[in-house]
Amino acid sequence: MPTLYDLHTHTNRSFDAEASLEAQCRRATELGLAGFAVTDHCDVNMHSLACARTVFAAGGADIRRMREQVPFALFQGIELGEPLEDPDYAGEMLSLLPYDYVIGSIHNTPGKPDFYFLDCREIDLDEMLEPYFEELIRLAEWGQTDSIAHLTYPLRYITGKYNRKVELSRYDALIDQLFRTMITRGIALEVNASGLRQGLNAPMPDERFLRRYFALGGRRIVLGSDAHTARDLAAGIPETAALCRKIGFTTALTFRQRRAAAYNLE
Ligand SMILES: [Zn+2]
Ligand SMILES: [Zn+2]
Repeated sequence: MPTLYDLHTHTNRSFDAEASLEAQCRRATELGLAGFAVTDHCDVNMHSLACARTVFAAGGADIRRMREQVPFALFQGIELGEPLEDPDYAGEMLSLLPYDYVIGSIHNTPGKPDFYFLDCREIDLDEMLEPYFEELIRLAEWGQTDSIAHLTYPLRYITGKYNRKVELSRYDALIDQLFRTMITRGIALEVNASGLRQGLNAPMPDERFLRRYFALGGRRIVLGSDAHTARDLAAGIPETAALCRKIGFTTALTFRQRRAAAYNLE
């Protein structure tokens, strides 16, 4: 049994997820996971700070209680979405709990709805994607998160849902700038396995981007399923780990109290 960690999962404390913490833990035990991180959504542009505080304080207490009872590592995380749209809000949430791991995410171009809600059939892709990559660079420069998640997230909808092709090589300069900033700042690159089950047939980012990150000297990767159900816990992680190994990565990271620890990709 290879060592499997899933550093990106949601429970029903996320608006779009259905699994209870108990159900995720039962599934992790069944799968023999070495550990997983609960990284519920905190999108600063979606919910009031008071509401987010209440949800995370309760969720954090549950995780710390559960951690004493389970035979694997249970990490307390947060997926901080769009933090630069309200840095004060983001800062308050970051100081609320003793997180193990903080994911930074961008789910929309600034001021626009989540790609999840957009009809991508008619939309001008440059108008969407250029500000998306620029916002990711700003997120890396902000430097308050341990990783940046699901790079190329808009493809889940543009390609996965609406079947539109998009030539991402036109954004290569922006992506290089993003990777260089992440490497300099020590921010890990998440390899998000959800693309494998959401019409992309590849993780986010895919092999081409992972090879570019590796070529630029990037070695800090984190694997996550982005499971919103217990069934999807760790889904696609073995395949994603195999792809990363093929590219040349030998380790991936877990985080405890916001310190990274490497484990071997087997
Ligand atoms: Zn996300
Ligand atoms: Zn997520």
